Amino acid sequence: MKTTKSARLFKRALGILPGGVDSPVRAFKSVGASPLFISRAYGARLEDVDGNVFIDYVMSWGPLIHGHAPKGLVKALQRATTLGTSYGAPSPLEVELATRVRKLMPSLERVRFVSSGTEAAMSAVRVARAATGRDKIIKFEGCYHGHADAFLVQAGSGALTLGTPTSPGVTKAAAADTLLATYNNLASVERVFKANKRQVAALCVEPIAGNMGVVPPAAGFLQGLRALCDTHGALLLFDEVISGFRASAGGAQQVYGVRPDLTCLGKIIGGGLPVGAYGGRADLMELVSPAGPVYQAGTLSGNPLAMTAGIWCLDQLSPKLYKHLAVLGSRLAAGFADAAREAGVDLQVNAFGSVVTPFFTSRQVKDYASATTANTDLYARFFRGMLARGIYPPPSQFEAWFVSAAHTRRDVDKTIAAAREVMRELTQ
Ligand SMILES: *Cc1c(COP(=O)(O)O)cnc(C)c1O
Repeated sequence: MKTTKSARLFKRALGILPGGVDSPVRAFKSVGASPLFISRAYGARLEDVDGNVFIDYVMSWGPLIHGHAPKGLVKALQRATTLGTSYGAPSPLEVELATRVRKLMPSLERVRFVSSGTEAAMSAVRVARAATGRDKIIKFEGCYHGHADAFLVQAGSGALTLGTPTSPGVTKAAAADTLLATYNNLASVERVFKANKRQVAALCVEPIAGNMGVVPPAAGFLQGLRALCDTHGALLLFDEVISGFRASAGGAQQVYGVRPDLTCLGKIIGGGLPVGAYGGRADLMELVSPAGPVYQAGTLSGNPLAMTAGIWCLDQLSPKLYKHLAVLGSRLAAGFADAAREAGVDLQVNAFGSVVTPFFTSRQVKDYASATTANTDLYARFFRGMLARGIYPPPSQFEAWFVSAAHTRRDVDKTIAAAREVMRELTQ
């Protein structure tokens, strides 16, 4: 594979962008490779500046459920652009998109649009704190809620799940208000609640975890969280930035029949343009400025191009689409598992509909501790072998592979054939 142009660009980028990229995982560091610079994308394909074409399984990390540059979306955006790219004033598009969101996810009685998932999660926590008059939040090890200070926290070595910052620049004070629990472990959540009586504003969770690799919730886990929040007077915040409109049109909350108090959305809701949203119970969301005192604002919030993309994207969701995604997702998952078995490689494949993670471990993966038993060196070799065969996997073991409406059975079968070859290489 020729990568001279990408290599040259990366060298230039390193001199002007920190690490040569605008978001860390794109740098391919954890897979021991150098990033490819993309010149265009269409359907399920990515093309780099050297002319290499790949079947894409990153799909912009989740937004592109309909594939890259679907014709209808491109047309809608071209038309919208001629009407102005930003108004700084309300437009009918915001009402249209919000109405669609509420129809699909009735727990969002009110919706506020922002420009990223990070903003959505950060703002939802502010609302929860204001509503409860409490400062602390609970999050799970291995769940990601964007890069706001309150979430860049890991379990400390000290007593009782006290948070410590995962990044320099996050103050000890910010971290101290974030408590850590273990995913799929209700007892761990109960312990944290009991040790912090009447102090927890919200429990934040990815209802289907996607940021330690795919880890679906165990039976009863989400229902148990709902009950614990009710017992302890805390709000339940579902971060459906990945699962929203993906697990089903109504998100994970529809699949599992659990109604959160607050929800954050992102990714799919912007159809590939920068959008996030948070919403939930009307009494909580009416606290948000200017309806209420909780301040939150955004120059480009509700941007007409982004709203246009979101509307187009949600309007194309259909039972047929989810069936297609589920068929391809399970075919890919089974293909990885078979390829590993044939080659004698330890692999645990987790999947939910259109998201799949092959973990290079023999352990069942149900939480962060079990996810991190995966052999990341082996994944790095797998990644490089796949890339060389025209497949573009997520450049980290702990991410989801995304299939979209644009992926075909042939794409998936090609991917599995490549995986077979690469798995055999791994054992040589
Ligand atoms: C991607 C992601 C975020 C952050 O969204 P950005 O748009 O990258 O800020 C938050 N939560 C979850 C679950 C995500 O996957």
